[in-house]
Amino acid sequence: MQQTTWTEVDDYFCERLIPADPVLTAALQDSDAGGLPQHHVAPNQGKFLHLLAKLQGAKTVLEFGTLGGYSTIWLARALPEDGRVVSLEFSAHNAAIAQKNIERAGLADKVDIRVGKALDTLPQLEAEGIHPFDLIFIDADKPNNPHYLEWSLKLSRPGTLIIGDNVVRNGAVADPASTDANVQGVRSFFDLMANNPRLSATALQTVGSKGYDGFSMALVIAWHKM
Ligand code: SAM
Repeated sequence: MQQTTWTEVDDYFCERLIPADPVLTAALQDSDAGGLPQHHVAPNQGKFLHLLAKLQGAKTVLEFGTLGGYSTIWLARALPEDGRVVSLEFSAHNAAIAQKNIERAGLADKVDIRVGKALDTLPQLEAEGIHPFDLIFIDADKPNNPHYLEWSLKLSRPGTLIIGDNVVRNGAVADPASTDANVQGVRSFFDLMANNPRLSATALQTVGSKGYDGFSMALVIAWHKM
């Protein structure tokens, strides 16, 4: 099987199940125009996140890595009227494009983008007491994934769902000798998930328009010990 086939199948799924959406199309166009990398989730993956948020009955979502706000829009659209997505983004340029995309989507009241390194903005977020979050999507710089998981646990409750994106790294995640900091970040993230009794976790490999990758899912099953 080749990339062409994976893309054709994703195109077919999207054509059947995900109606053309001018707001999402414009968000991607403006992200491209602003020079952002095409590191956003695919439309069927965005819909998957949306459905997970719905299944969770999520009212509060924490996202690591906004980029142009594409996944943020999918997540925010799953929330009730008084729901909120807090999205952490390092780049002010990316955040500005995302903010416009989110305003165009009519979601400005539901999305709160915090600009800066996530590890710098998280203490303030914790102090504000918006948590616990119902769903957490980790999709920023992979070397920091272990820290993001620790923070996610702090800001969660039993029943919180923690999703990690891009955990396969084209298969390199299975190589303990990899010198790629992204791979090692994901491997440490898996070690933490494996060893934390507060979590029940799994991971799935995926193929599609975004190539060969995958995501992890962890359910928080016990409270955080202070
Ligand atoms: N979730 C987005 C989507 O699917 O539409 C894609 C996010 S992209 C894979 C990763 C984003 O994380 C980039 O916009 C990058 O600037 C941001 N990022 C990288 N390092 C970060 C950090 N230390 N703190 C917060 N965001 C960071």
